[in-house]
This record gives sequence, structure tokens and C-alpha cells, in this order.
Amino acid sequence: MTRQGLIDEGTMTINSTSDRALLTADNSSSNPERNEHALRCPECGEATGLHIDGVVVENAAGQRLQVDAEGEDDGARLNIRLENDEPHDGRRHMFSLTGSCEHCRGNFSLGFKQHKGMTYFSKTSNA
Ligand SMILES: [Zn+2]
Repeated sequence: MTRQGLIDEGTMTINSTSDRALLTADNSSSNPERNEHALRCPECGEATGLHIDGVVVENAAGQRLQVDAEGEDDGARLNIRLENDEPHDGRRHMFSLTGSCEHCRGNFSLGFKQHKGMTYFSKTSNA
């Protein structure tokens, strides 16, 4: 299956064990000519009201950097926190995008973990 084929179907990532889509795009709101695809909420599927507002970077030694973005226009602010925490179970680093949805009121995290030459994707939520 080609990358273009996945995008045409509106599916960006599939769990091949369950055939459940992990991330989907709303094609009617996307701009494929600009390589911009309107992400749907990973919980309820709505394409509007989805917010990715933060990123967490963790390394295998337990250092953790969290950046949370809030506000709009001139009122936009970044809150940055660096701390030490329990290390994750990978050998390298992990990046997570955190967000929320106005429709289902869910909070979620999309993670990318590096471990032994592999990149693992995970999705957690508390919807
Ligand atoms: Zn939602």
C-alpha cells in the first residue's frame, strides 16, 4: 500500500492486528497539495475542535521536558518545565504530542518511542 493510497482513504496509521485506524484525516478539510491533512480526534473522530497543545520529550535517563502552549495571537504563551522522573522503558528517547478535543472532552497523548532501532507509536487517552 502506498502512502498516497493511505491518505486518499483518510487513514494515516492502522493497527494491523485489529485493523482499527489509530489516526485518520478528514479529506474534505485537508489540503493535500500543501501536504496538510486535517487530523480527526483519535477518540470521537471529529475533525473540528481538536487541539494539539503540548509536547513531552523524555530520555532514557529520566530527563523530561514538557512544553505546553496556551492562548492565541498576542496572548499566546509557552510554559516550559524540565524535571527528572522515572525513566521510560526504552533505550533512547520518546516524544509525545498531547492534546484535547472540544467534542468528547477527551485528553490524549500520541507517543513516538525510540528503542533498539525501532520507532514505536502509542496512543493513550482518558476520554
Ligand atoms: Zn473527540
